Amino acid sequence: MRIKTIVTGVAGRMGRQVASALTQESDIELVGGVDLKSQNINIGSGATGTSLEVTTDLRALIAKTGPNVMVDFTHPACVMDNVRCALQSGVRCVVGTTGLSASDFDEIKGLCQVNKTGAVIAPNFAVGAVLLMRFAQIASKHFDTAEIIEMHHDKKVDAPSGTALKTAEFMRQSDPAAQEEIAASFESQPARGENAGGTRIHSVRLPGLVAHHEVIFGAPGQTLTIRHDSLSRESFIPGVVLAVREVMKLEEAVFGLDVLLNI
Ligand code: NAD
Repeated sequence: MRIKTIVTGVAGRMGRQVASALTQESDIELVGGVDLKSQNINIGSGATGTSLEVTTDLRALIAKTGPNVMVDFTHPACVMDNVRCALQSGVRCVVGTTGLSASDFDEIKGLCQVNKTGAVIAPNFAVGAVLLMRFAQIASKHFDTAEIIEMHHDKKVDAPSGTALKTAEFMRQSDPAAQEEIAASFESQPARGENAGGTRIHSVRLPGLVAHHEVIFGAPGQTLTIRHDSLSRESFIPGVVLAVREVMKLEEAVFGLDVLLNI
């Protein structure tokens, strides 16, 4: 059976690329797309591209096409409405949209339990970024002090990035007390970045960038820098395709690609 999949935010930077990639997979069938305007979009390259009809009505698209999976790359303002609509209709979710809150995560967990269905929510689908988070977690056992610099294109709406917040969460699991004390001492200086549970995060937004994360650890006489660069949105595609396949086996919400990759 092919996995019938729809993409919300399909006319966007990520949505287009994801939709195009899904048409290349023999076990996945792209059955529709949702965005703010009804239109036909070309999701392939040049003259060989496939034309996809885009609707504004997610509920109607679900009723019409009966998808197994919804992949969402939209906006923090609408992602939860899309997720509620999908999970309540028994459609599994792969969510790449960032800017979700802790209470959003709790709600998704509850919706999956009630509806006995699965969801994968990941702030970063690039395997290198997942490794960065894990390496940072290991390093934070040996360094008391670290700061994160995240750099993205100027159209990104949320800050700090979901990846930076998740990295800080991983690092916090290692030595929360030491980091919280140091980070809190800079509270009155906005230029020192945002304190995310003990790790200072600095957000840079510039045209030309895609998605870049750097974790710098410091100790007397040494620093350690761990860096990942998504140079194009291609970097996210294998992770999204994996999540579409893996979410079919889930009856719960999974937060982070690290769980699926067992990293
Ligand atoms: P984008 O602005 O290019 O695309 C978003 C699309 O969503 C647009 O076409 C917009 O019209 C559409 N949209 C907005 N509101 C909508 C609604 N109510 N219903 C349907 N469609 C709606 O943004 P992007 O660069 O593609 O990023 C989208 C999201 O994905 C952001 O939150 C970004 O941070 C995130 N992102 C995540 C990853 C990851 O690996 N998890 C990677 C890149 C981007």
